[in-house]
Amino acid sequence: MPTAQRKAAKSSGAKKSALKPKSSAKASAKKTSAAKSGAAKTSATNATGVKPKPGYNPVAPERVQEILARLDRLYPGATCALTHKNAWELLVATILSAQCTDATVNKVTPMIFSKYPTPQAFAAITPEQLEPDIRPTGFFRNKAKSVVGAAKEVVANFGGEVPNDMEKLLSLPGVARKTANVVLGTWFKLGVGVVVDTHVHRISRRLELTKSNDARNIEQDLMKVIPQARWIDYAHLIIHHGRALCIARKPKCADCGLETLCHAADKTWSTVEIHKDATPA
Ligand code: SF4
Repeated sequence: MPTAQRKAAKSSGAKKSALKPKSSAKASAKKTSAAKSGAAKTSATNATGVKPKPGYNPVAPERVQEILARLDRLYPGATCALTHKNAWELLVATILSAQCTDATVNKVTPMIFSKYPTPQAFAAITPEQLEPDIRPTGFFRNKAKSVVGAAKEVVANFGGEVPNDMEKLLSLPGVARKTANVVLGTWFKLGVGVVVDTHVHRISRRLELTKSNDARNIEQDLMKVIPQARWIDYAHLIIHHGRALCIARKPKCADCGLETLCHAADKTWSTVEIHKDATPA
């Protein structure tokens, strides 16, 4: 937590009820648990004893803008962490990144792009030939089928160029909206949707920007509340936040610049009321 914010919390009287040293993780966990049960029992009070603000709207434009502004400050220049030199490489890397870390993908891709430098080169091999090279990324049989299948379609239907069109991208084997949005947003700079990966799913729910629980509906909800000009950035920022602080288990709320805006039910530290429905899933 920023020093100024910590001082503000202390002086506002939150100290006794909520502000805890980071080292007292056990005590914090108990506090959060108590906060959750308290929130479940009544909406009149909360973990800090502060009454909920009447008319609270989690998707109010000013709140969304503040979330984006704070994320901008926390992660300036956040962008896609997958190493790539062109749209095809980004497409392949994104397919390989399913259920796998970007770091592992980045270890595998330089070798496979050196071995098969173009979509045509991938289209000329069988999935079985590719499997050993991408094995570290997991689910390698399905991923090999998707990559080789996508290469064949790109060569046969799109002249060897990855299309910059959602529908055409979705026609490629192994490409769903998340992958298509990554390629369109990061490479082509076309914000036609919002990437919904595991971080965007979890954190958008914690921040009450969506109540949905499936990627398609979450994307639709986010497209309604986030200005279109920020659709691409939002995912990059949230993915960075999910890796740095807002991790799946035991998010580092005491260090989080969004803490005063966040009412997530599974917060590990809080100066604001807890909302029992603001859960990761
Ligand atoms: S306060 Fe905690 S749960 Fe909320 S966004 Fe920050 S790290 Fe995530």
